[in-house]
Amino acid sequence: MRVERIALSGFRNYDEETVSFEPDVNVICGPNAQGKTNLLEAVYLLTGAHSFRTRFDKELIGFDCDWGSILADVEAEGRSQTIRLLFKRGQRRQVTVNSVKKPSSALAGLVTAVLFSPDDLYLIKEGAAARRRLMDNAISQLRPGYAALLSDYNKLYENKTRILKDWREKPSLLTTLDEFSDGLAKCSARMIRYRASFAERLAAAAGPIHRDFSGGKEELGVSYKTVSTVTDPRAPAEEIYAQVAEHQRLHRQAELDAGQCLTGVHKDDLEISINAMAARSFASQGQARTAALSLKLAEREICKAETGEYPVLLLDDVLSELDSARQEFVLNRIGGGQTLITCCEDEDISRRTGGKVFTVKEGRIR
Ligand code: ATP
Ligand code: MG
Repeated sequence: MRVERIALSGFRNYDEETVSFEPDVNVICGPNAQGKTNLLEAVYLLTGAHSFRTRFDKELIGFDCDWGSILADVEAEGRSQTIRLLFKRGQRRQVTVNSVKKPSSALAGLVTAVLFSPDDLYLIKEGAAARRRLMDNAISQLRPGYAALLSDYNKLYENKTRILKDWREKPSLLTTLDEFSDGLAKCSARMIRYRASFAERLAAAAGPIHRDFSGGKEELGVSYKTVSTVTDPRAPAEEIYAQVAEHQRLHRQAELDAGQCLTGVHKDDLEISINAMAARSFASQGQARTAALSLKLAEREICKAETGEYPVLLLDDVLSELDSARQEFVLNRIGGGQTLITCCEDEDISRRTGGKVFTVKEGRIR
């Protein structure tokens, strides 16, 4: 998978700009606030996912523009394809692949990208939300059905939360509570199966990478934690559904008392361990960073195994945050696919990677 050319119109701080990328390493440099991350964001959006910076497409449109678009020639599934994303205020985004209108989900598995940002280095020590995001982003790109489920789940969750918050003032709201809970249990059951299977693959792929990274001294463990009544997250969906529904039934009163959703996959987590000790509590900063890098590199390997080609690797400002040994490890692992690296100074990185340098200034690329 690679992006050959991308043209931005009215996208973030890009008025009209076109750039052609190299098939291997591309170094995107320039001072702060010039449009480096915006360019990576545009590439990431080609995967059909939401932006890694906002849930709202309207924020992607240039401040003075009525609409914004991303037009890209990509090489995917062994051939050239043209993808266009159009963002209009107050409307859903429009997607075309080779000039044919498609739902956003049609891009899942076609265009894939793995993003690495400085925030990811805190993946291990942060709350569960960061690890759920890792699962959600990765699975959504590979499975169109998952992105749809996630969006259904979020809508049901918002509705149920509103009921739980407001039922005291408006008791009539309670008539629909169980219906929303049931919808959530159905979505949960299917999402649990996807997440369990992804976590298993992540564990298998990250283990050897981390062993390498730590010079054979550390074993990285990854295990999926979900609703406590679920006995086997890989069981058939009907079985999981019954167990999730049971958990909801047991917590119905507690949810009414607390005024919030206490049960469901929005509380899932990935438990990461290093040499069988919980990494979140016991890993040193360096160990936690190394483990986070192993997980992200594993995500790239899973994507390759799944689609047959490496995803585009987007490294946003991450190298400056790493010590030289970790930089070396990452740079030695990025071969085989296309990489876009942003940084404030270019020389060192372009020399070490042999990458082509692009300079971004005020939404123009040279
Ligand atoms: P840094 O090195 O600090 O990370 P950067 O080059 O990655 O900088 P970007 O995050 O790409 O910078 O942002 C560049 C500029 O784009 C910012 O100044 C921001 O205000 C501007 N910007 C963001 N969204 C929009 C928008 N919708 N329309 C116009 N400009 C925008
Ligand atoms: Mg940036």
